[in-house]
Amino acid sequence: MRPSAVLFAILALRCYAQDRTTETGEGSIADPQIECSPYNYPPVASQSAAFPTIWQPASILPGDSAAQNLWNTIAPSVPGISPKAPQWTTNSAGFQYSPSDPDCWWSYKQCVTPKLSGLSPDISNVPEPYTTGYGFDDGPNCSHNAFYDYLASKNQKATMYYIGSNVMDWPLEAQRGLADGHEICVHTWSHRYMTSFSSPDAFAELYYSMYYLLYKASVIHNTINRSGRDPSCSPQLHANIPPFGDVDDRIRAIARGLGLQTIIWDYDSNDWRNGMGGITKTQVDSNYETFINMATDGTFSTHGGIMLTHELNNFTMSEAVEFYDKLQGAFKYIVPVGVAYNKTQPYVEKNYTQPTFEQYIKGAAAAPGNGNIGSSGTGGAAGSGSTASQKNGDTARALSWTYAGKLLAVTTAWTLLF
Ligand SMILES: [Zn+2]
Repeated sequence: MRPSAVLFAILALRCYAQDRTTETGEGSIADPQIECSPYNYPPVASQSAAFPTIWQPASILPGDSAAQNLWNTIAPSVPGISPKAPQWTTNSAGFQYSPSDPDCWWSYKQCVTPKLSGLSPDISNVPEPYTTGYGFDDGPNCSHNAFYDYLASKNQKATMYYIGSNVMDWPLEAQRGLADGHEICVHTWSHRYMTSFSSPDAFAELYYSMYYLLYKASVIHNTINRSGRDPSCSPQLHANIPPFGDVDDRIRAIARGLGLQTIIWDYDSNDWRNGMGGITKTQVDSNYETFINMATDGTFSTHGGIMLTHELNNFTMSEAVEFYDKLQGAFKYIVPVGVAYNKTQPYVEKNYTQPTFEQYIKGAAAAPGNGNIGSSGTGGAAGSGSTASQKNGDTARALSWTYAGKLLAVTTAWTLLF
């Protein structure tokens, strides 16, 4: 190649790599340092005043009559359970709670069957045997391109639990999650302990995350002229996963008022704790191995499992990549949680679809770019993706795993208090 051609190629690559204005441009950046440097995305920047300050606990914004009016309709159905211990503290001194667990507080006894009538049980596993509901908390992480590229190379979809403040910081990364065909769920605005919030503030944590996330979706497809955030025309994400699993019947009732169902987990990789409190990579590896081994010991003979994992940082994403093939070898199916429950229309906007479980395992994974929220797009069930590589039904191979003989501890910072 002549020097001038080389130079042209370098310049072309450089221009392409520095496209920070589109999802595809941002998604093609290979250097995490560039990927994680801030960029200005006008459709987001122009709306920021209509949302709470990022990474701060949310409240209903003054003058936001749409949010206030919606909250006013939900509030009567919210039980009079008091907020629990203050946010982000590990000091429970003076805090009293009945051992009978009257609020179905997950942090206390991993309760997933609400005691308040009318609330749906939390999703804590998946109905299909030898299946894992695959998902990652705390995204979108600015450096996730390599991880998402890996998932794409496996044609693997997952449930991504995005934090509203992260979406605001990294809107093009959030758009990639949707464009790649992943299932996007609410993981609150500021990632605090939800039971510590007043009810209106807990509502705001979910409300603004939902509308922010889907506002981005509408920007992607450029089909909704959103002059306001009218709940009746806004797509809603179908699930909330509470940070630290900190949910009780009051928070569930607020989430239900927004059309959200709570997803929890039954196994914790503790990947997010690497380097904290003595948790090491060796222990996280062991947690993964234990979950994988459970696929062979009968634990998942009648239902599947959900393990808590994160796209929090390079370590957590690297762990996911390191263990993917083993997961695939042990479990018959690795599917997004909503797919496991046949939630073919996971959002309020009904023209976005994803496959049923049966369709997914037969290779009808949602095609990249299926996220036609707000448009008249076709359903993902007709996508051309193939998931054949994971669908070998190889239980014999799965059974070759040896059960490690210990259960993962399902713990959160809160459970350690009691
Ligand atoms: Zn989280």
